Amino acid sequence: MAESALTTEELRQRVARLPRIELAHLPTPLEEVPRFADVVGGPRIFIKRDDCTGLLYGGNKTRHNEFLMAEALRRGADVVVWGAGVQSNNCRQTAAACARLGLECRLVLSRSAHRDEIQGNLLLDYLVGAKVEIVDAEIGPELDEVIIKRAEELRGKGRIVYSWDRHEGRPLAAVSYLLCLAEIVDEMQERQLPIDAIYVSSAGATGAGLTLAKAVLGLACPVRLICPIKWPWDTRADMAEIANQVASLLDLPHRLGADDIDATEDYIGPGYGAISEGGMEALDLLARYEGILLDPVYTSKAMAALIDHVRKRQLKAGQNVVFVHTGGTPAVFAYRDELMEAKKGR
Ligand SMILES: *Cc1c(COP(=O)(O)O)cnc(C)c1O
Repeated sequence: MAESALTTEELRQRVARLPRIELAHLPTPLEEVPRFADVVGGPRIFIKRDDCTGLLYGGNKTRHNEFLMAEALRRGADVVVWGAGVQSNNCRQTAAACARLGLECRLVLSRSAHRDEIQGNLLLDYLVGAKVEIVDAEIGPELDEVIIKRAEELRGKGRIVYSWDRHEGRPLAAVSYLLCLAEIVDEMQERQLPIDAIYVSSAGATGAGLTLAKAVLGLACPVRLICPIKWPWDTRADMAEIANQVASLLDLPHRLGADDIDATEDYIGPGYGAISEGGMEALDLLARYEGILLDPVYTSKAMAALIDHVRKRQLKAGQNVVFVHTGGTPAVFAYRDELMEAKKGR
C-alpha cells in the first residue's frame, strides 16, 4: 500500500460529503485512568469515553446513527424497524434517535441471549416509546429474517420503512468510527503522546471503521478488536469487506484484506451475552479504582483482553494504550443477579 496518509482534517472533509445528522455529544472525552493502570501494572491507559455520546446513556450506536438516521430521513422514512437482543444497546439508542427525530420505532428483540425481564435497555426502549416485539429467533441471520418480514408487512400497508439491513447499514455505521479515530489521534497529539495500541470491543462496523481509519491516517499502532460474539461467518473477512465498502463510498484507494483485521475471539468466555471471569475482574477493577462502569457483554471483555495482554507482557510500562469504551452500561441493571454473584469474594 503506497497511498499517502490523510491528515485528520482531510479525513473529516472526506466524510463531510455524506449526509449526517447531529445526535451525539462530540468529541467524547479522552480520560486517563492512572489508578486502574497502576493496579493492572503496565502501560498508561486512556479511555475514549464513547459511553458518553449523550443520547439516552450513549454508546457507539449513537455515532453510527448520525449516518444511518440521516439515510432514513433522506429516504423519507416514517417508521424504523430495528432488531437485536432484548438487552440491545443498539436498539435502545436507535429508539431514542427515533424519538428525537419523530419517527415511529418498531423493535424486534430476541430473547436468545438474555431473559426478557423489563430492565436495563429493554425498559428504556419502552420509556422512549418504541413498539417492542419479543421473539425466539437467534441473533444473526435468523433474526434478520424476521426484521425483513416485519419491514415488508409495513411496506405492504403503504409505510415508508427504514430497516436494519446488515449489508446496507454497516458501512454507514463504520464511517462514524473513522471520525472517532481522528478525534483520538488529535487528542493524543495534543498531549504529545504516541499511541502504542488501541483496544475496542467489536466484531462489526465499529472495528471496521477504526481499522480503515488507521490505514487512511497512516497510523503504525495495532487496532485490536476484541470480538464479543462468534458470528456464523468469517468475521475478519466480513469486517474487511465493510471497510472496503466505506473506502469506496468515500473514494479512498485503500483496500483491506482479512489479514489486516486484528481481531480475536479468545475473550468471548462462556458465550455472547454471558459474563466472563476476566470481564468481571475488569468491570470490578475499573469501577472500584476509577468510578467508571464497563458493561457485562462487550466492554468488560475487551478490557479483560487488555489486562491479559499486560500480564503476558505484550503491553508494557512506558507505552500508551487507548481503550475505546463503546458503552452498554444500562445493561448492568438487567445483569444484577449475575454481577452480584460474580462479585462474591472480590
Ligand atoms: C454494539 C456494541 C459493540 C460492537 O459494535 P460493532 O459495531 O457491532 O462492532 C461494542 N460495544 C457495545 C457496548 C455495543 O453496544
